[in-house]
Amino acid sequence: MDTVYFDNNATTMVAPEVREAMMPFFGDLYGNPSSMHAFGGRVAKYVNEARERVAEFIHADPSEIVFTSCATESDNTAIHGAAEALGPSMKVVTTKVEHPAVLGPCRRLKRMGHPEVELPVDNGGNLDLDALREALKGGGPALVSAMWANNETGVVFPIKEIAEIAKEAGALVHTDAVQVAGKIPVDVREIPVDMLSMSGHKFHAPKGIGIFYIRKGTRLPTYMIGGHQEHGRRGGTENVPYIVGLAKAAELATAAMAGEAEKVRAMRDRLEQGLLATCPDARINGDPAHRLPNTSNMSFEYIEGEAIIYHMSDAGICASTGSACAAGSLEPSHVIRALGVPFTALHGSIRFSLSRYNTEREVDYVLEQMPKIVKKLRALSPFSKGDTLPVEI
Ligand SMILES: *Cc1c(COP(=O)(O)O)cnc(C)c1O
Repeated sequence: MDTVYFDNNATTMVAPEVREAMMPFFGDLYGNPSSMHAFGGRVAKYVNEARERVAEFIHADPSEIVFTSCATESDNTAIHGAAEALGPSMKVVTTKVEHPAVLGPCRRLKRMGHPEVELPVDNGGNLDLDALREALKGGGPALVSAMWANNETGVVFPIKEIAEIAKEAGALVHTDAVQVAGKIPVDVREIPVDMLSMSGHKFHAPKGIGIFYIRKGTRLPTYMIGGHQEHGRRGGTENVPYIVGLAKAAELATAAMAGEAEKVRAMRDRLEQGLLATCPDARINGDPAHRLPNTSNMSFEYIEGEAIIYHMSDAGICASTGSACAAGSLEPSHVIRALGVPFTALHGSIRFSLSRYNTEREVDYVLEQMPKIVKKLRALSPFSKGDTLPVEI
């Protein structure tokens, strides 16, 4: 077994069909889609088609799709754009478990003087909707930015209900939908969000291409100012190969989603149940009733996640602890912390995230390796069951 890649919430393999669809645009089709000549116009046709394909993916109108460089750019565009549109009194309402691409800009707005609220989650990682209602009481300009599904735990928020509560209060609504792309169906006709972000490389397109959906009629100033590309909503010469690749990935995801999700869910569940059965003092983080089909976040008590990851890596298994963005620090993840996970389990959390390219054989291999790794690390751990543990600071 070479590499077992169970880290698909961090990034995914570029689908072979996507790679192939992109190739002509690294060759003869290098024209600038904004050019007046036919050589550029030929390329513009592919960008238009890609926009239609991506719009279909989320049931939007092509005019509502803006191509960006990544979801981080889309998130920043939504949050800073809303602040510019609604003014300095705009309240920012977000959640404690957002990705840094949302939490970072929200906290910057707070430093700039905007009132900011970070909504709590319960032990299962589910959002407190009463806290959301409370935060929006009294009206006034507000932006609600809540993720659709969590990248670390896979917990899915009731985004329709969140958006309805927010719209009722007259707020603008943005959702970071990066982790639902290709995993569960997305239909913006049913979910009243004004803005939505996705990233290509989380669903088998390359890194460096993102989607920013902005509902018709939403007034938002341009964040990336430059040329008149993207109907004047995002300057910068279009990344044509990646836009075409993104559309191909969206098409593949739409075609295969239902069947694949079930296959991936079955593998994820077998992995999880197997680990619970063979590794004592293991637990699942995040409400299993409201989770993405591909994600499992588990804690192995009394041992460090980082140590587990290194041993897994030596065995050729890729997973992650906390988020890639938090890796390198020994701070436990802000998401696992927000769930109120006990101290003994806080540091030993591991995220397994699968994709359509994983196999049952890989699950077997991980099930064989993990108990050995956990046992070895437990033998070295200064803590064990029944110990009085230091109070968390
Ligand atoms: C990966 C991720 C992002 C950021 O995507 P980039 O491609 O790195 O910009 C944002 N939000 C969530 C939930 C993610 O998982």
